[in-house]
Amino acid sequence: MAVVATEWSTAVLPRRRPTLRPAEIAAAAERLEACSAQEVLAWAVATFGDHCAIVTSFQREGMIIIDMALRLDRSVRVLTIDTGRLPAETYEMIDTVRARYGVEVEVITPDSASLEAMQTLHGPNLFRRDRALRRLCCHVRKVEPLERALEGLGAWSTGLRRDGGLARAGIAKVELDEAHGGIVKLNPLADWTRERVAAYTASRDLPEHPLYAEGYTSIGCAPCTRPVSAGEHERAGRWWWEADELRECGLHHRSASQRLDLALAEVHTRAATASVNGTGTTRRTA
Ligand code: SF4
Repeated sequence: MAVVATEWSTAVLPRRRPTLRPAEIAAAAERLEACSAQEVLAWAVATFGDHCAIVTSFQREGMIIIDMALRLDRSVRVLTIDTGRLPAETYEMIDTVRARYGVEVEVITPDSASLEAMQTLHGPNLFRRDRALRRLCCHVRKVEPLERALEGLGAWSTGLRRDGGLARAGIAKVELDEAHGGIVKLNPLADWTRERVAAYTASRDLPEHPLYAEGYTSIGCAPCTRPVSAGEHERAGRWWWEADELRECGLHHRSASQRLDLALAEVHTRAATASVNGTGTTRRTA
């Protein structure tokens, strides 16, 4: 697909190695807070080039970011985390994006040794029994793969919105991501509403995840996501059996807990032992 020239296109701008000091990120964040999503992405693409990545699960917001970013520069990387428990429709979206935009979608998977150890210790459906085990599953299947995927990058973009739940209410359009080595985290749609997202999706005829048509308003792993009823918050269908309104998978909200830390240490020890003894899949170090 040809690159569409726009007033915010940066195709001719030079690329720089993606290292910004915290003070530079803070200055950019202040300057860009009043800017449009396109302007935020244009700054990131001009600053970081192919060291800027979109991390997406192919919800409407992610599709908007993909569409805007690839119109700016086709070298922007598109990443997704395949937790191994995604609905079939999400895998269809990978093919849809590849076909529509003619780009590679980099599929990041969990560390196989950690996955084996976790499931051996706790079973494949550990997430329903205990919040710490649910967070362990999210950590092994999502958080650790994301950490690996972001290594070497200068910036990554999410589709988070401030009205997408209490845990997201305070996000900025440009943030210092200390959890991932001090790189830049972009939330270009921070001030968008759900209605604006739907309107933009329709105006650009963007591909839509098939589960929206079945009543889903937030889409994650199959066993941890359900459709919502009228009047429920859009994220009410995520880990609905947990009472905590701040519930998140940990990709964007990393509050450690002693129980999670202990469970993780147990998994990592088991994975390392299996690797040394040759009884499990050798742990990747990438
Ligand atoms: S959303 Fe559910 S299945 Fe997916 S990683 Fe988290 S706990 Fe595991």
